[in-house]
Amino acid sequence: MFGLLAGARLHNTQQAVGIFGGSFDPVHFGHLRAALELAFTFNLTDVRLIPNSQPPHRDVAFASAAQRAEMLELALRGAALLVLDRRELDRPGPSYSIDTLQSLRAELGAHAPLIMGVGADTFQQLASWQRGSEVIDYAHIAVLTRPGSPLASNVDAALPFAAQWATDPARLTARPHGLLYKLEMTPLAISSTRIRQQIATGWSPRYLAPETVCTYIEKHKLYVADAALQRSI
Ligand code: ATP
Repeated sequence: MFGLLAGARLHNTQQAVGIFGGSFDPVHFGHLRAALELAFTFNLTDVRLIPNSQPPHRDVAFASAAQRAEMLELALRGAALLVLDRRELDRPGPSYSIDTLQSLRAELGAHAPLIMGVGADTFQQLASWQRGSEVIDYAHIAVLTRPGSPLASNVDAALPFAAQWATDPARLTARPHGLLYKLEMTPLAISSTRIRQQIATGWSPRYLAPETVCTYIEKHKLYVADAALQRSI
């Protein structure tokens, strides 16, 4: 009886951990704002941003893993709530979320609430994720709304597990995993694809990503098909 009570108390006082993964090729204000709103929604002490080493859903990243991580590091400098987590870069082979979740769970223990933020576009591909049906056994999922990627009305039918949606953030922070939450974030119609395409035609990425990241892109001539096209502003 005593043991049970002590266990319950310990469980309730565990601080929830937030994670947000992606290619970040390059990182932009859509990613950063999503991570920040995740932190505020669930009152998290921090959100770990986890760049993948080899994106599982495409063959070529346009910047190297090291460059993507460097840009993320620049973007997060001075941001107390957002931290860079390099675990996928340190792991050989494709980056599967399930491996990352397993390694985080091993670190955090069974009781810590773990909340994985994913954009609505990524969430709707969950059935194609490696061992996607197990994801919910390790973390909650906060689905961040994204312009151009409305959540399908029959989204639950396409999920590889039985969906349990919560509308109160406190329900997620009170247990370790298993719930879904729709997070209506400030809409920012920014994507890395569009940034790369614009740079390739000679446009500047300024005002879509932090200044430090834009300077890095220019300095390393990332995403430019023809360097002669590149114009500084
Ligand atoms: P790309 O255009 O190269 O696919 P992206 O802009 O979608 O890149 P990713 O690094 O692939 O960025 O995304 C990482 C995570 O951030 C994903 O879960 C994605 O859905 C989410 N995300 C990216 N941009 C936004 C945005 N503007 N609003 C909400 N979520 C976003």
